[in-house]
Amino acid sequence: MIIHASGKAHLPGCTHIVPSDVRPPVYGWVLAPSPGAWRRLSPSHPLCATQGNTRRAAVGRCETCDATQ
Ligand SMILES: [Zn+2]
Repeated sequence: MIIHASGKAHLPGCTHIVPSDVRPPVYGWVLAPSPGAWRRLSPSHPLCATQGNTRRAAVGRCETCDATQ
């Protein structure tokens, strides 16, 4: 899961993301999110990045990515 500075989470392969742009400080990411982590993330339940910029936390889902889930 890739977390942008805006707090929006994307999934690998999202057309909104240029892979070469995915690096700190703009992005943080979680390589192996737990099952259901995508569905659970919300402003009251942020998902924190574990790699890249680990100060990033996702509070919302990319709608395009969400449609694939
Ligand atoms: Zn996306």
